[in-house]
Amino acid sequence: MTTRIENAAKTFADGTRALKPTSLTVEQGEILSLLGPSGCGKTTLLRIIAGLEQPDAGTRLVFGDADVTEMAVERRNVGMVFQSYALFPNMSVRANIGYGLKVRQVPKLERGKRVDELLELCRLTEQATRPVTALSGGQRQRVALARAMAPRPRILLLDEPLSALDAALRDQLRDELAAMLREFRISAVFVTHDQGEAMAIADRIAVMSEGTLQQIGTPEELYHAPTSDFVARFIGNAMPLNGQRVGNDLLLPGGKLDVSDVANDKQIYVRAENIKVDDTGPLTGTVETITFSGGHYRLGIRGVVADGALVHAHLRSRTTPKRGQQVRLSIDPSHLILV
Ligand code: ADP
Ligand code: MG
Repeated sequence: MTTRIENAAKTFADGTRALKPTSLTVEQGEILSLLGPSGCGKTTLLRIIAGLEQPDAGTRLVFGDADVTEMAVERRNVGMVFQSYALFPNMSVRANIGYGLKVRQVPKLERGKRVDELLELCRLTEQATRPVTALSGGQRQRVALARAMAPRPRILLLDEPLSALDAALRDQLRDELAAMLREFRISAVFVTHDQGEAMAIADRIAVMSEGTLQQIGTPEELYHAPTSDFVARFIGNAMPLNGQRVGNDLLLPGGKLDVSDVANDKQIYVRAENIKVDDTGPLTGTVETITFSGGHYRLGIRGVVADGALVHAHLRSRTTPKRGQQVRLSIDPSHLILV
């Protein structure tokens, strides 16, 4: 079943245009991420899909063959997972998972069977009678997923479930969440403001900004072929190389770069991981900041591009240049991002 969202839009009573007309399709079994900075309309779009928000006229929602635009929340059969999972703290694991089935008045025997299945699938059988407050972070996440999956939803909607967790747990649960969603073979829409999270979890990412869909594609497409300045910067922090184009060269304050393969009308960007400290490189700048990130040093270099901006370069080496030192840089032309 595909989920089709056509011209979804929302203007709140106070005049805020939270979402401008947005169309997208979630394929059967696909995990689609809505990615964008805080306030760009992600939650609003998710709530429209769920039926929790009344959208503007012109919005159309189609689940499979069924137009659900006017259908009430209870009948849409969507599963929801919220920030920090929002489990019922005074209930057992079993009661949490069975909650949606009880609300829907599923007979007790059938309910028990379905909950047992999910306990098994989510490796929670041993914890079934424990209160959820006694569980680890990973177990809580599995309860939240099992609870949302119990009524066999047509689509699962997740709104920043990981964003309130501490960093170490977040990384661990991110990978486990990605694996579980694939195991369920459910179509899912996963909202996040964290591009690393979106890339790790989603099949495709819809990048949003200021109430509009900027670009939709696989993580690789967005990373290698952004179609706007916003996406280039937001996905992998591409830096613009603003310079003067003369023939085959791009003239920058720090030197000239051969860009013979780049069409004249393209804006050129590069990422820190693709700038090399290289004694024979054509660009020169002065090291201003040095930070150690474990796998590499991140150098902030002034004087390469105009307007006093720093260019960042990753250095995979045991030793670094000193602050104030001049360095030469090279960029493999195949790593330039063109917008
Ligand atoms: P996100 O989830 O991407 O952070 P939201 O969808 O929550 O963004 O919000 C989008 C915009 O709509 C924001 O400017 C927010 O302040 C505004 N907004 C959200 N809910 C309401 C509301 N009930 N009334 C008025 N404005 C709202
Ligand atoms: Mg939100």
